[in-house]
Amino acid sequence: MLELSNVNVYYGGIHALKNISIKIEEGEVVTLIGANGAGKSTTLKAISGMEKLKSGEIKFNGEKINSLNATSIVKLGISHVPEGRRVFSKMSVMENLEMGAYTRNDKGEINNDFEKVFSLFPRLLERKEQMAGTLSGGEQQMLAIGRALMSKPKLILLDEPSMGLAPIIVKEIFSIIRNINETGTTVLLVEQNANMALNAADRAYIIRNGEIEMEGNAKKMVADERVRKAYLEG
Ligand code: ATP
Repeated sequence: MLELSNVNVYYGGIHALKNISIKIEEGEVVTLIGANGAGKSTTLKAISGMEKLKSGEIKFNGEKINSLNATSIVKLGISHVPEGRRVFSKMSVMENLEMGAYTRNDKGEINNDFEKVFSLFPRLLERKEQMAGTLSGGEQQMLAIGRALMSKPKLILLDEPSMGLAPIIVKEIFSIIRNINETGTTVLLVEQNANMALNAADRAYIIRNGEIEMEGNAKKMVADERVRKAYLEG
């Protein structure tokens, strides 16, 4: 479904992604884990058209997307939930969700998708007229995910959904991620919480200093001594 081949991204003189190659099959949950500054967010930004590639290629369902703008990429079916949530704080929950559907004009279907998002996140329904900025951190994360779902993505990119949330809320978010995947959306999950991410994923890539250091079955990685030492212990 998604294929990155030898992707290179620079920020001025900083070589942030070095020949990154990643493959995601339809229906999978794939996680990209790694330390602070390893290049996880940059990888997602390259996919969603927010950062330009210096070289390499990104294909989605066989179509080259790395010279398209971000809106065209959303229209093709890729939705990005950025790090730090970034909901529109002065807008209501409902208005935030409406913004998520900005690329669509199938009104009846959009209404169905509001229902779907509210059944996934009943708390958003209770708070639908509330200003997004007054929601708790967990609720804002739910809103950011709900907003992304309103574009009806085939692939959703999640950047550190667990960041800054209490463990019980993190569990809730991960169970929602599983649910989203089970209802047909492919997931690329970026996390610093390697333990939760590997347990939720089918396959994983470890990124270090802008390079893919290791890839494989997520459950096998949990058991791998090197992975445990570097990412799961301490
Ligand atoms: P984090 O969890 O801290 O977001 P990350 O793995 O997502 O880490 P990136 O944000 O992708 O890492 O950053 C990769 C590298 O690129 C880092 O060295 C970072 O300092 C640098 N970088 C990221 N964004 C910019 C930018 N806008 N300008 C310059 N350098 C940047």
